[in-house]
Amino acid sequence: MTKILVSACLLGQKVRYDSKGALCGDERFQKWYDEGRFMPICPEVTGGLPTPRPPAEIRGDRVVTAAGEDFTAAFEAGAQAALKLAQEHGVAFAILKQNSPSCGSLHVYDGSFTGAKVAGEGRTAALLRLHGFKVFGEDQLDEAERELAASSGSG
Ligand code: SF4
Repeated sequence: MTKILVSACLLGQKVRYDSKGALCGDERFQKWYDEGRFMPICPEVTGGLPTPRPPAEIRGDRVVTAAGEDFTAAFEAGAQAALKLAQEHGVAFAILKQNSPSCGSLHVYDGSFTGAKVAGEGRTAALLRLHGFKVFGEDQLDEAERELAASSGSG
C-alpha cells in the first residue's frame, strides 16, 4: 500500500492556528483516506506550538508572528518530525496545505500579515523536498493522482 504524508488539517483535524480544520472535500482525497494511505501530521503542533496560536509568516530566514515572536525553532522541529515520519513509513510523496508557512508548497504568505502571498514554500515542504520527497498542495490533486499511479502501479 503506497502511503502519502498529509497535513492533518486537510483531514479536518482542528490543528490550525485558529483551532479550525481545513477538510479537503475532493472525492479522490476521501478515497485515499478510506484506503488507509494517509500518514497525517501537523508540523506546527508536533513542533511544540499550542492550538490556538498566533498566526505566523515567513520573513527572510525566520518564521515570526505579527507581534515579532520568533517561532522558527518550533517550525524547524516540526519539519524534522515530518521528515522522520515520511522516511520511517516510506511515503511516496506528500499532500500539504497550500500557503502555510510550514506546509505551503507553491505559495506562502509574504510576511506582511495582509493576506498577500508570494511564490515560495513552507519549512516542512522545503525540508521534504530537500530529502527527495515530492510535495503537492491540496490544489494539485491531479498531479498527486498521477504520482500515486506512477508510484504504486496497481495500488
Ligand atoms: Fe495544517 Fe500544516 Fe498548518 Fe498544521 S502546520 S495546521 S498541518 S497547514
